[in-house]
Amino acid sequence: MRLSRYFLPILRETPKEAEIASHRLMLRAGMIRQEAAGIYAFLPLGLRVLDKVCRIVREEQDRSDAIELLMPTIQSAELWRESGRYEAYGKEMLRIKDRHEREMLYGPTNEEMITEIFRAYVRSYKDLPLNLYHLQWKFRDEVRPRFGLMRGREFLMKDAYSFDVDLAGATHAYNRMFVAYLRTFARMGLQSIPMVAESGPIGGNLSHEFIVLADTGESEVFCHRDYLKFEVPGADVDFDDVPGLQAIVDKWTALYAATSDKHDAAAFAKLAPEQRISARGIEVGQVFYFGTKYSEPMRAVVTGHDGVERPVHMGSYGIGPTRLVAALIEVFHDEAGIKWPEAVAPFRVAILNLKQGSSETDTACEQLYATLTAAGIDTLYHDLDERPGSKFATADLIGIPWQILVGPRGLAEGKIEVKRRADGSRELMTPADALDRLGA
Ligand code: ATP
Ligand code: MG
Repeated sequence: MRLSRYFLPILRETPKEAEIASHRLMLRAGMIRQEAAGIYAFLPLGLRVLDKVCRIVREEQDRSDAIELLMPTIQSAELWRESGRYEAYGKEMLRIKDRHEREMLYGPTNEEMITEIFRAYVRSYKDLPLNLYHLQWKFRDEVRPRFGLMRGREFLMKDAYSFDVDLAGATHAYNRMFVAYLRTFARMGLQSIPMVAESGPIGGNLSHEFIVLADTGESEVFCHRDYLKFEVPGADVDFDDVPGLQAIVDKWTALYAATSDKHDAAAFAKLAPEQRISARGIEVGQVFYFGTKYSEPMRAVVTGHDGVERPVHMGSYGIGPTRLVAALIEVFHDEAGIKWPEAVAPFRVAILNLKQGSSETDTACEQLYATLTAAGIDTLYHDLDERPGSKFATADLIGIPWQILVGPRGLAEGKIEVKRRADGSRELMTPADALDRLGA
């Protein structure tokens, strides 16, 4: 992408309304724009990151054998009356009437709708296990939408729903998602810690929140330090290996880890002082097993091996991709701006032409741009007539992992400079070596 043809509305001054780094940097980097309290438009740069986050989420859901579908944002109140949650949900639910005075709502979550879909088609244990997921916008009329994408009112969620014939099956479904979550966050460069959690309005008896440690996180969390050293399961993990997955989940839940709601101060105090982490964290995902909470009132039953019909065992599993974009920035930034991990960077490489209009630098930049683009590497070519200092500032602010600095002095010796945003290191090399380094 040539910056001269792109839409990147950078703000030079710090927006006053933004209290935390991610919100500030997203506004300054031209990633998002607030359209109403807690409701944001994704500008092109922000959308690129969101898409990359969603791609990783999808790949790991698919790897664990969850199946993607897409349910609507608008749901009928009738469905929610069946589960008893229409009245119970309270003011967070945005209730709407259509022109026929029918009561509708903008979905805050989809347990009812997926249960309705399930019961319409599935009758037998032979069709199980089943895990269906989608990525869809949700609306929750939060009392205090704040911190930009961190706590929005309209936000994107990946929500998966598992269906099993019994508790044993449902436990394996839970473990699959648990492991998929560890992998999902790790692929984005985030260290997530599963913590025992309250199940809230979703209901149920088993739940973990996946927490990313960050000073600006809204949750108060307590955990064992060894979690930071745990190795995340590889891409070759066998999701059909029931005891194998159970062993992974057992390992990741054996040490102390809880959010303030479930905190047991006495148990935590038993850890050696140097093992204790008491910190703040961001909830990026949550998994629930809630058994027959919805299938019973909504009559979603399956016939078991013995020919007897029973309500299906369910779980639900959420990840917040829009919140993740903010969480990533909270973890990866410095004074100058964002430092995207490569897996989610909007562009992997930025070419900075330090003397726009000079035939030497222009030619060298065009060649680099053509080769990188042909190799399928997302590249942003800063081809505007701006001073080098301004180009450095933009590239640092928007956080492109690799910056290629092309200036007349270096070129006179056949060299360009390659800068790594993560640690600020710079290296002079020939354009051919740079392309090689970047895999083009
Ligand atoms: P919170 O406790 O932060 O309000 P929640 O527990 O109500 O969230 P869940 O129902 O578990 O949320 O939703 C699944 C995921 O969706 C969360 O883990 C989070 O990543 C994301 N999410 C929930 N609420 C919001 C929100 N208001 N803005 C952005 N993302 C959200
Ligand atoms: Mg939650």
